[in-house]
Amino acid sequence: MNANRDKAKGTAYLVGAGPGRADLITVRGAEILGRADCIIYDKLANPALLRFARADAEIIHVPKRAGKGSFTQEQVSKVLIEKASAGGTVVRLKGGDPCMFGRCAEEAALLADAGIDFEIVPGITAAVAAADYTGILLTSRDYSSQVAFVTGHEAEGERESNIDWAVLAKFEGTIAFYMGMGNLGLIAERLIEDGRSENTPVAVIADATLPSQRVVRAPLAKINRVCSEEKIQPPAIVVIGWAADSDPRLDWVARLPLFGKSVVVTRDSRGNGESAAKIIAKGGNPIEFATMTIKPLTDTNRFSETLTRLNEYDWMVFTSGNGVAVFFDALHNLGRDARALGSAKIAAIGSETAAKLDRYGIKADFVPSVFTGRELGDQLLKLTDVQNSKVLLLRSEIASDELMDVLQQGGAEVENVAVYTVTPVKGKSEWLTEQIGRGRVQWLTFASPSSARMFFEQISGEIVSSSSVKIASIGPVTSKQLQDLGISVDVTAEEHTIDGLLAAIEGTHA
Ligand code: SAH
Repeated sequence: MNANRDKAKGTAYLVGAGPGRADLITVRGAEILGRADCIIYDKLANPALLRFARADAEIIHVPKRAGKGSFTQEQVSKVLIEKASAGGTVVRLKGGDPCMFGRCAEEAALLADAGIDFEIVPGITAAVAAADYTGILLTSRDYSSQVAFVTGHEAEGERESNIDWAVLAKFEGTIAFYMGMGNLGLIAERLIEDGRSENTPVAVIADATLPSQRVVRAPLAKINRVCSEEKIQPPAIVVIGWAADSDPRLDWVARLPLFGKSVVVTRDSRGNGESAAKIIAKGGNPIEFATMTIKPLTDTNRFSETLTRLNEYDWMVFTSGNGVAVFFDALHNLGRDARALGSAKIAAIGSETAAKLDRYGIKADFVPSVFTGRELGDQLLKLTDVQNSKVLLLRSEIASDELMDVLQQGGAEVENVAVYTVTPVKGKSEWLTEQIGRGRVQWLTFASPSSARMFFEQISGEIVSSSSVKIASIGPVTSKQLQDLGISVDVTAEEHTIDGLLAAIEGTHA
C-alpha cells in the first residue's frame, strides 16, 4: 500500500454487477458486497444483489436517468468521495463491467486524487452476456474475427460525435452498440450513407439475461421501425453484422420451458423468493405478490411447555416447510437443537417439508405418497403403531381440521400446537390487476387455500376470470378453495409441491 495513503480513509471498490441476472456477478464482487459498509448502486445494477449486503450496510441508490431523484455524474462522484473519505469499505456497484461505458475513469481518477485506495472488480459486460444468452455470438471463425463495442449515445450530437462512421461502415466484424436505442434510426442511416448494405443483419437484445429478455431481428434499413413496432425499450444492445444472423439452435434461453411466461407467485415473501428462483431457472418471469406474512407463535407458553415433554409423543407431524423453519428457529433461540426431538418419529406432509427437515439434520420417518392432509392421516393410520399412539401436530394456526379428524377417528391421541399463523398483507393490487387486464401475465399460482383467499380479497375474481390469465393450483384442497371463490382452475399439480406446480404449468400451453 502506498505509504502516503491516509489510513483513516476507507477503501473504495468499483464493482461490476454483471449484465442483469443477479447471480452473474463475480464471486469476488459478491464477497466484497458482503462486507461493504456502504453500497452506492446504479439503476442498471440488479437490486436483488443487495441480498449479499450486510443487514446494517448503508444503501445509496443513485439513478442517473431523467426524472425525480436522479443524480448527475458529479453528484455520484461527490457521494463516492465523501463516503470513502469517511472510512470503511465503500462499494460503487455498476451495471455490467464498471469500466465499459461506465464513467469509471472519472470516478477512479477522483479517488486517486483524494488519496483513497481503490480496487476495480470486473463484471460481465452487457454485449457479451446478450450474445451468450441468445446465441448471437460476437466472434466466429467463419464470419467475424473482430468486434467493436461502440456507444450509441455519441451519435446524438452528430457533429461532435467521436464515432468514425466511415470506418464502422466498412468494419468487417461485429459491431455491438451500447445505449443505441435513442438513436437507432440515426445509427442505421449513417452506416448506410457510408456504404453499409441496407440488408446487413441486425439483432436488438433488450433486458439481456433477465426473465424479460427479448430479441428482435431485421435488416439494417428496417431495424428502427421494427423496434418501435415491437415497443423495444432500453436497456438494449444492438448487434450489427453476420453475427446477428445466428444459428437458431444456439438460442438456448428461448427453449427454456417457461420462457416468455410471466408467473405470479402468491405465498409469503420468503416462499415467493424460493418459488421465483425456480421460475427464473426455467426461463420464466416471476412476479412476486406476497399475500401473507408468517408470524411465529413459538414465544407462547404452550409451545415451551410442549417442548419439555416431547418424549411423550410417538409421532410429530409437520405439514409445511414454514412449520419446520419456525419450529427449529424457536428451538435454536431456546439454546436447544434437534436432539430435543428425542425418539419421536417424524412425519412430513410432502417432499418439500421433508427436504426442509433434512436441512436441520432430520430424516422424516414417513412421507405419504400423495401430499395432502387427508392422505397423510389415512396412510399414517395404516402404519400399525399409529393407532392408540400420541401424535403431535406442529402447524399453522389456520390449518384445517381434516388431518386431526382423520387421525382421531382412526384412534390416535392427537395434540395440535400452532407454531405460526399467517396474517394478510396488501400487495400492488392495482398494478397487478392492470397487468392481468392487458394480458401481460400468463399464470397465477396458488400454493395454499389461504393464499388463494387472501389473493382474491385484493384482486377482483371477475377481472381474472374475464382475462386470458390461467390459474394453477398446488393440489385438490387449494383447487377446491379456488372453486369456492368462483375461480376456475386450469391445472392442479399432480405432485403437490412447488416443483409439481411448475411442472403442471410447463405441461400446459398458455
Ligand atoms: N457498464 C455497462 C454498460 C453501461 S452503458 C456494461 O458493461 O454492460 C448502458 C448500456 O448498457 C445500455 O444502454 C444498454 O445498451 C447496455 N445494457 C446494460 N444492461 C443491459 C441488458 N441487461 N440488456 C441489454 N443491454 C444492456
